Amino acid sequence: MKLKNFIIGGLLFLSTFGLASCNTSNYHPLENVESSLYVKKVDNYKNDLIQGMDVSQVISLENSGVKYYNFDGEEEDVLKVFADYGLNYIRVRVWNNPYDNDGNGYGGGNCNIDTAVELGKRASSYGVKMLVDFHYSDFWADPAKQMCPRAWLGMTIEEKSKALYEYTKESLNKLKANNVDVGMVQLGNEINNGLAGETTWFNRALLMIEGSKAIREVFPKAKIVVHFANPEKTGNYENYASKLDYYNVDYDVFASSYYPYWHGTLENLENTLNNISDKYDKDVMVAETSYAYTSEDSDYFGNTISDGGSVTKTYPYTVQGQSSQIRDVVQAVCNMKRGIGVFYWEGAWISVNKGSYEENLELWEKYGSGWASSYSVVYDPADAGKYFGGCAVDNQAFFDRTGHPLESLKTWLLFKNGNFVEKKVDALEDVNLIFDLNGEINLPTTVNAVMNDGSKEAVAVDWGIVDYDALKNGGVNKYTINGVAGGMTATAYISMVEYNFINNYSFEDGDNYWTITDISKKNEELYVEDKPTDSLTGTKHIHYWSSGTNNVEFSVEQQVNNLPTGLYKFTISIMGGDCGNTDIYLYVKINDEIVQKKSLSINGYGNWDTQVSENFEYTKGDKIVVGIYVKCAGEGNGAWGKIDDALLNSVTK
Ligand code: CA
Repeated sequence: MKLKNFIIGGLLFLSTFGLASCNTSNYHPLENVESSLYVKKVDNYKNDLIQGMDVSQVISLENSGVKYYNFDGEEEDVLKVFADYGLNYIRVRVWNNPYDNDGNGYGGGNCNIDTAVELGKRASSYGVKMLVDFHYSDFWADPAKQMCPRAWLGMTIEEKSKALYEYTKESLNKLKANNVDVGMVQLGNEINNGLAGETTWFNRALLMIEGSKAIREVFPKAKIVVHFANPEKTGNYENYASKLDYYNVDYDVFASSYYPYWHGTLENLENTLNNISDKYDKDVMVAETSYAYTSEDSDYFGNTISDGGSVTKTYPYTVQGQSSQIRDVVQAVCNMKRGIGVFYWEGAWISVNKGSYEENLELWEKYGSGWASSYSVVYDPADAGKYFGGCAVDNQAFFDRTGHPLESLKTWLLFKNGNFVEKKVDALEDVNLIFDLNGEINLPTTVNAVMNDGSKEAVAVDWGIVDYDALKNGGVNKYTINGVAGGMTATAYISMVEYNFINNYSFEDGDNYWTITDISKKNEELYVEDKPTDSLTGTKHIHYWSSGTNNVEFSVEQQVNNLPTGLYKFTISIMGGDCGNTDIYLYVKINDEIVQKKSLSINGYGNWDTQVSENFEYTKGDKIVVGIYVKCAGEGNGAWGKIDDALLNSVTK
């Protein structure tokens, strides 16, 4: 016991007065690195910028057999590779106790303070500092959940605050005893909606005040970080910062997650964080960011970001796109008045890379190298215990599935001075085309290319031999056609449809394109109504109602421009009631003369009458107007009705 105390004391001394400065001078990223990447120079680059990498998962991956390599193809400590390429900080999440009672890890790297010590020691040997990311939970904490550590369940807020203080102090002392160069400590992770099971700001502040106290005592020079997500939600950050200010929480850095596909524009991020700096006198930073280099999954466990979905795709999911996106985030932070750094989230979290889901699962369960294991069910049965599995961000790493670094890793060194290479195609935009079954099929001669500098250019495309007859004769259908453009594969998604030449055919865009004429000048209600239950499709339709007898008389029509020569038919639908005697018909006028006319009838609520004109010839250049005429005598509570879905389709001769 005495010996242990003595050793710890000695190391404390070294860490405070000797190693810290020694470590800093140890940090030597590579210089004059060559690259095929286009990297735009970051303006006003800050030489002391914190360039961080979250490496929390690394040890569990190594235990699962994952190996990492440098650009020479030699196996190397991934932390060294990061240090060589400009990463001067690591970030490690720390859970209080991510193990069940039998010692099975919950996954996500099974990260506790011992994991942080091990990674911290390795980082320190390369002169790289550490951000300790306390979640104050036994497993993942984020805006959706902030579960209390099991050991703290049932405690009063006073007891919990004390426990958090003791836990923080004890954990940081372990890092200190191991000479880990701790530069920053986080008071919780994405704490938008709570902390350690507490949701009131009063209680959360009590916990944070105790956490800060412990950090100041153990690492007086370390910066204290608060971390939130969703900068795109207007006013939230201002609200959080004002609460922290009101309760006098002691911190230095207000940090945000920034995932480009979810979290709004960089301009908004800049403005939001500048506002916090101005108003509350705080440094700011990006605590988490990332971007996909491919849409492919590599571990048989689906990724959060891939093709499709309602996300913002600022750059193509390519190695160049990943590089350009990170460069832009760094630029935004350098633009900020008090932006101090950017942390990338888990650039080393790759697939354990066995040949099947089952083999991967075995490793995820055994070593905690997936996002969650089945053992997490005892703590988080609703989410992790149910949806456990592998990695959802393997397509956002800086290493490929075999552990070899991607060119984009070099970005961290290159944006200081920029790296100019010849302009070339980086990716092609997909083409979405809709063709009328009875019309011409014209595939485009060019497709949009995203160039390596982020600009767009139209490049010639060769679709090869296309079977147009098959497209025309296949009915309403969808096809995918591949071509070649700029040496890459271009893809066209083709929908063959019964094309409707009417604009705003279902009145979803109000009365745009339509002319509604109040012929009787006595119509009491006649307008586009928004009421899904009374629409044939969509939510809107033409509504009419008049209480007086013979008040209803109107027309709704549209002139159709640029119609190709051909054979056509016109369709429209109506429903209504209490109309009495009616004279209702659809019509087609060519050069102001009615060439088609067909009656419609009123049959009560929900009983739509859909009528179609005879086929008629149209010659390009002639004036064509299609519409419906409605005249009702009315009875009972007054004539009412709804009109919807006008269709002008071409017809095969
Ligand atoms: Ca995956």
